[in-house]
Amino acid sequence: MKGIVIKSTGKWYKVEIDNLIYNCVLKGKFKIENKLTNPITSGDYVDIKINEGDNATIYNVYKRNNFIIRKSNRNNKGHIISSNIDQILILCSIKEPYTKINFIDRCLISAKYYEIKPIIVFNKIDILNDKEKKYIDKIVEKYSDINFKILKISAKKNLNTKNLLKELNNKKTLIIGNSGVGKSTLINHYCKKSKQKTNLVSQKTKKGKQTTTFSEIFKINKNSYLFDTPGFKEFIFFEIEKNDVKYTYPEFIKYSHKCKFNNCNHTNEPECAVKKNVGEKIWIKRYNNYLSIINTL
Ligand code: GDP
Ligand code: ZN
Repeated sequence: MKGIVIKSTGKWYKVEIDNLIYNCVLKGKFKIENKLTNPITSGDYVDIKINEGDNATIYNVYKRNNFIIRKSNRNNKGHIISSNIDQILILCSIKEPYTKINFIDRCLISAKYYEIKPIIVFNKIDILNDKEKKYIDKIVEKYSDINFKILKISAKKNLNTKNLLKELNNKKTLIIGNSGVGKSTLINHYCKKSKQKTNLVSQKTKKGKQTTTFSEIFKINKNSYLFDTPGFKEFIFFEIEKNDVKYTYPEFIKYSHKCKFNNCNHTNEPECAVKKNVGEKIWIKRYNNYLSIINTL
């Protein structure tokens, strides 16, 4: 029987098939790719054989469409956090807590690099004053201009969540965001049933009893899932190199063909068409984030 791994601890796995959840172990040796530490991750499609009750054995894992990795603490290897993701929801907030634009840009770089659609969502719009509302509208305008999907919601007050749901339908969406930004509230809002089942586990994780974090998947409806990745605050640039970053900025690509050098990195090169447009067509905040991000690589 084919199911989807909704939770993985590295030792045992929860696999869902038609709303039934099986506790699984692996059978035999699974091939682990070179630079990775774990053979199976949340989001993987697997074949299982039921042993007794809800105990089952995983004996096959299907090829992944994509996967997200985090560098392992122990060695230089990558730990797969989730796989088969259709899109990434970058959950942000202007207040309590404040999400830096730099955080959004880092996430967008990875999303573009891995070719996974990003959606920027600003939560907690119910607590904003006029000045903050204006600021958010400016951000919305800037990202919309360069064709990123961006929405404003309140998960708690149920504002605009129906609109967001339209974006989530029939998709597997990975949620990322700083702690306190409203990830659990949003997941609870859309996935009431699943959350109850796993309440115990997530409580434990929250209290920090578990040092390693494992992603978990919550079902919205038949073909729609939310992937929660506790402790995974943003993508780590595992494979991305300095020279890759410029291609992930859609607004650069518009001008870069006019740069004097065709390998221009838009930093200190003379006659750089990108730099010429910073402050005008290119939002200076994003450009500055570009500079600071490539400096860390
Ligand atoms: P997480 O750490 O990202 O999972 O954040 P939580 O979902 O635990 O939310 C952190 C706090 O923010 C909680 O006290 C929530 O009630 C609150 N919160 C979440 N969404 C909203 C919202 O839309 N508006 C307001 N005012 N508070 C919210
Ligand atoms: Zn340039």
